[in-house]
Amino acid sequence: KTHDVPSSIRLPADLFQPERVNSAGLDLTDENTLRELAKNLAVPAPRLGETGEPVLNPADHSDVVGHVTFATPTEVTQAVARAQSAFAGWSARTPQERGALLAAAADRLEAETPYLLGIIVREAGKTFANAVAEVREAVDFLRYYGAQVSNTFSNDTHRPLGPVVCISPWNFPLAIFLGQVAAALAAGNTVLAKPAEETPLIASEAVRILHEAGIPANAVQIVIGAGAVGAALVGDKAVRGVMFTGSTEVARLIQAQLAGRLNPDGQPVPLIAETGGQNALIVDSSALAEQVVGDVLSSAFDSAGQRCSALRVLCLQNDCADRVLTMLKGAMEELAVGNPTQLATDIGPVITAEAQSLINGHIDALRKQGYSVHQTAMPEACAQGTFVPPTLIEIGGIAALKREVFGPVLHVVRYARQDLNALMDAINATGYALTFGVHSRIDETINAVTARSHAGNIYVNRNLVGAVVGVQPFGGHDLSGTGPKAGGPLYLRRLLSACPALSAP
Ligand code: GLU
Repeated sequence: KTHDVPSSIRLPADLFQPERVNSAGLDLTDENTLRELAKNLAVPAPRLGETGEPVLNPADHSDVVGHVTFATPTEVTQAVARAQSAFAGWSARTPQERGALLAAAADRLEAETPYLLGIIVREAGKTFANAVAEVREAVDFLRYYGAQVSNTFSNDTHRPLGPVVCISPWNFPLAIFLGQVAAALAAGNTVLAKPAEETPLIASEAVRILHEAGIPANAVQIVIGAGAVGAALVGDKAVRGVMFTGSTEVARLIQAQLAGRLNPDGQPVPLIAETGGQNALIVDSSALAEQVVGDVLSSAFDSAGQRCSALRVLCLQNDCADRVLTMLKGAMEELAVGNPTQLATDIGPVITAEAQSLINGHIDALRKQGYSVHQTAMPEACAQGTFVPPTLIEIGGIAALKREVFGPVLHVVRYARQDLNALMDAINATGYALTFGVHSRIDETINAVTARSHAGNIYVNRNLVGAVVGVQPFGGHDLSGTGPKAGGPLYLRRLLSACPALSAP
């Protein structure tokens, strides 16, 4: 179900690109592939920067992945000026040329997959399986937006904005980074891309690949730094649009910074923000418990819960709750927590010591309120990095959760069948509206809760994570973001100053 396209609006059929194919990724059961991956875990340091601050593997702080230097205020201003002067040339390329360059970059990215995986695993602490999915998604974004402009854009009717700032998070340091950049470039804008300060290395490699594919150096520039660099970019009056994925709090700061600023077309500077969630899954007693357990594990604990789509609140109908919880706790014991450079690892680290103490602080606060906390065991080696074990806490009600906690913490609430509507209202009342799921074999229940949910992405009898570009456009509403959905047919329109009206029926 998608709320992105109101039923009163008809989209041109070619926006959906029926013949497009998603990237296949790598087969992690193939021995030759695994040998190739192992080789790439020792990335030669010079390629990833020899000077500046060390970038450490969050799973093992003795593993230096590379080095990085933050941009100075002068460098930020100079980069924006270059993006401004490159705009005329880049926007004058035909949409087909821009699309072809993005497609060429996608091919190069795919060809470099084993090398890129090594960096993602060490810099972001992602498992190999997650890293493979990440490269696939990045490839898909490049091809999807590239094909969309090639097939449906014309420079006579689609007018880009100018320099656009892309601020992306560390949890998808390649896929979200390149998703934003590819969309902005495809639409004809020049790009200033600020990756998360925690994951600058994989982002630098991504920009190298865009340049090697033939995209001009000043059409896409990487600007590395912390929040101050992001604020300096957003504050530069030559910037005509901002794309942001991260916390709701930071999205508000950006919105405040842009308030009142108009582009030459007289429109407010557009902000596309994708932010947090307080995502819930409703499980009724007709659901298949074995399937529920598998989907809960991947939704709540995969990527150590560091996805905005991740499951935060599992709602169990009273008469199946004990049975599901017993199975779930047993399955949690089987999860291997550790350094993702080991292929057997299921759950890696959280990104920083700061994140670790925020998550642990939340767990402690709930423990102090008297709730019992169930956690997976962690091997001793986890002391080398920043880990939080998969954690399950049964709480009194959703209202006890004030904000999103970005880690492997699953809250459980129980409900009685007659209280289902009140439960849905409590979920909606969190103000977040990103992902929502239901596990049930009763059509009436599925229809009732999905109709009542405000969430942007709704999943029935499956997990809540891993939206696929061009198939399941991803994004939320309310506190969860501005829309339009990434990887969907309307995304590029927000990156334009003018485009043909959608046809009304
Ligand atoms: N698109 C991702 C998913 O479906 C989540 C993106 C995010 O965490 O920001 O799992």
